[in-house]
Amino acid sequence: KPERQRKPDWIRVKAPTSKGYGETRQLMRDLNLNTVCEEAACPNIGECWTKKHATVMILGDVCTRACAFCNVKTGMPRAVDPLEPEHVATAAAKMGLEHIVITSVDRDDLPDGGAGQFVKVIEALRRNTPQTTIEILTPDFRGKMHAAVEAIVAAGPDVYNHNLETVPRLYPTIRPGARYYASLRLLEEVKRHNPLIFTKSGIMLGLGEERLEVHQVMDDMRSAGIDFLTMGQYLQPTPKHAKVIDFVTPQAFDAYGAIARAKGFLQVASSPLTRSSYHAGDDFKAMRAT
Ligand code: SF4
Ligand code: SF4
Repeated sequence: KPERQRKPDWIRVKAPTSKGYGETRQLMRDLNLNTVCEEAACPNIGECWTKKHATVMILGDVCTRACAFCNVKTGMPRAVDPLEPEHVATAAAKMGLEHIVITSVDRDDLPDGGAGQFVKVIEALRRNTPQTTIEILTPDFRGKMHAAVEAIVAAGPDVYNHNLETVPRLYPTIRPGARYYASLRLLEEVKRHNPLIFTKSGIMLGLGEERLEVHQVMDDMRSAGIDFLTMGQYLQPTPKHAKVIDFVTPQAFDAYGAIARAKGFLQVASSPLTRSSYHAGDDFKAMRAT
């Protein structure tokens, strides 16, 4: 049986036990909502849920893709829940969220790739909690990207996030269902439709990428007009997933962060435990205040 890899000290996180954690968990159960925090086995769940930050994962908990780094279940998804948009809005209201991050599994089985449900969720949030800023983290909508992006941008999220996940050389093994340049083009297209929407992307480090490849990804992102960048350490969710090739030190994350800022990103988060949605609300608020 393959063994779990030992993590360095800077990766260790506390077990989630707080009252806020329990309340967030119960609310998600009551509203029949999934979170990427749980499904992706995110190491920050204790900290985030204590502070009532959660990233809702719409369109079910079964994905039509099987990326080598991801803990989400793969298979034939269930029908889309028509009550989900209202439930997301209820969760945002009950948690008093200033900023909400919505993501989804990949739904290659749906004619619109799931874009319509993103639109309904954004509309339900605007109706019920108009003060909440909305960040969406979408799949690549393979083969349906133009229509999907147009519809979602028209609904007016504040931040449009789509992760490149890794350097192009590693796509065939790590993100086999996706194309690097298609993901870049998606983000470029968001900006073209509406330059007022902030675009955001992220990569995981520790999958065997070289330093210069990471710099190249940053340049590609800036050429596509991407505003915010997140970089975090890849962690192997189970022994069946892609192996960690190296644990990038906190100092190396700082160095990457400095380079990214010099390349002109408006906001950069780079640390071992950075995730796409980690501190997303605080960072967005800070950025708007400057
Ligand atoms: Fe996970 Fe997204 Fe890949 Fe699906 S498409 S397996 S949710 S990373
Ligand atoms: Fe959830 Fe994001 Fe926090 Fe992880 S970093 S627990 S996915 S909100």
